[in-house]
Amino acid sequence: MSHNGSGVSHEALDVMRHSAAHVLAKAVQELYPGSKLGIGPMIENGFYYDIDSPAKFSEDDLPRIEAKMREIIVAHEPFVREEWSKQQALDHYTNVENNPYKREIIEALDADEQISFYRTGVDWVDLCRGPHVSDSGQVGPFKLLSVSGAYWRGDENRPMLQRIYGTAWQNAEQLDHYLWQLEEARRRDHRKLGRELELFFFDEVAPGQPFWLPKGLRVIKELESLLNQELHRRGYLDISTPSLAKSDLWKTSGHWEFYEQGMFKLQVEDEDYAFKPMNCPESTLVFRFKTRSYRDLPLRLSQTDRLLRNERSGTLNGLLRVRQLTMDDAHIYCRHDQVQDEITGVLEFQRAIYGVFGLEPRFYLSTRPDKAIGDPAVWDQAEADLRAALEANGLAYEVKEGEGAFYGPKIDVDVQDALGRPWQLNTTQLDFQMPERFGLEYIGEDGQPHRPVMVHRAIYGTYERFMAVLIEHYAGAFPFWLSPVQVVVVPIADRHNSYAQLVAEPLVQAGFRVEVDSRRETARAKIRDAQVQQVPYMLVVGDRDQEAGTASVRERREGDLGAKSLDEVCRLLEGRRAART
Ligand SMILES: [Zn+2]
Ligand SMILES: [Zn+2]
Repeated sequence: MSHNGSGVSHEALDVMRHSAAHVLAKAVQELYPGSKLGIGPMIENGFYYDIDSPAKFSEDDLPRIEAKMREIIVAHEPFVREEWSKQQALDHYTNVENNPYKREIIEALDADEQISFYRTGVDWVDLCRGPHVSDSGQVGPFKLLSVSGAYWRGDENRPMLQRIYGTAWQNAEQLDHYLWQLEEARRRDHRKLGRELELFFFDEVAPGQPFWLPKGLRVIKELESLLNQELHRRGYLDISTPSLAKSDLWKTSGHWEFYEQGMFKLQVEDEDYAFKPMNCPESTLVFRFKTRSYRDLPLRLSQTDRLLRNERSGTLNGLLRVRQLTMDDAHIYCRHDQVQDEITGVLEFQRAIYGVFGLEPRFYLSTRPDKAIGDPAVWDQAEADLRAALEANGLAYEVKEGEGAFYGPKIDVDVQDALGRPWQLNTTQLDFQMPERFGLEYIGEDGQPHRPVMVHRAIYGTYERFMAVLIEHYAGAFPFWLSPVQVVVVPIADRHNSYAQLVAEPLVQAGFRVEVDSRRETARAKIRDAQVQQVPYMLVVGDRDQEAGTASVRERREGDLGAKSLDEVCRLLEGRRAART
């Protein structure tokens, strides 16, 4: 049994949350006669119930429903299990209440199966497997959060029900913390901040494809620059390969068969083509370009080409789920005896980079899925190599059974942001299949051809997703080295404009990103705007500064740091940049 921090088992919490869903359903049926229940499971942090009601719910109705739920909770109504025959159950949902959803669930059960119902209070029952808390008084502090539409059985051809979401916790402190976290997450929403800080936007002419504005692209360039230094130090070689390739390539790689729905396909001169959703197959052609010897291995080929994936429009979500993505991709070709060192190197690379951002990585080993290609024995070896590399790094990891890619097992990484939320970033995959399919070979020490192993790996994952994570992690206040504008010089009056230029110039020469705000606004307004834009430093200049050759320094969090000489300012900024804070 697993436990969370408070010592309460997850199972107990799940049972309580699911029980809260029943209390919600009962409250809704009492307040809104004629409401028909769909399903009401517990979910992460809470629960929901799908309801077909003659009433159209809005968030304004939630307090009233919460009040009714509280009445039920205070009454300590027992949850009592009853066993009914299939016929009794069908009769109930035909004659007592007309509910086609519950009937559909019951129809799917075996004729001789005893069907469990739970009675809450005297005259309210719900079809359910259980388990539940012993009585409604055991439901902890809760809050209803939102209402949205949900198709019955998730099928857009079936009726749309109303889904009421709630959260429930063991104590009020946990509830408050969670509500604070939700509010904070809304404030940090990267789609909202992306517009406010002029980083990027989306337009309906190109769903799932961001338009990067100068400030957003600036941040990406800094991320690239950090990565490029590290790639160079670690012996990677950069390549770039075509966007559009013939179906032959995708058939050889297996994508045509296993990833068909994920690709944008088109015909060119009567031949089938697809835009690349991944770089891997073409990377193997670069490996094959010339004869490779064992001395050439490991060969680490990195690339950041744009990829296109045919994500359904309904699933697109800001920068987190896009159709056009830019991976910081690499494929490492190595000998079997080099696999563990290469994976070890990748894991170390990832930890070094995430450390720069204060993101805490967690590792997951995903093993062979049902829909896999290749020899099971080869899979076992690949999984053993990944385990060995994780263990050699002394990393704790969880195993996700059956969640590997169709061509090999993988190590998934997620990172925890400043709010403690996990974000899935990328995977490191060990692949014995693609070298086979593309007939990759190197000449070994014995003069004979051998198959290399292929490692697919990314550090950021995609720049799009990583940007979303960083924007929310920092709440838009990027550290100094990443900030699109690092310094705003604020002349107090028009007569200080030329001195402001003099202050800015040496900083620009030193490679800082500096703007002079010479708008005809008050200094107070300019400072406020720079603060809203999360600019790390403001250099306010007036008469006294002009005479003394100084600037009055304001830091976005620390506030006024007093007047400093231009040399001092430069050293201060250089310190921040070097420390990447
Ligand atoms: Zn239940
Ligand atoms: Zn790959």
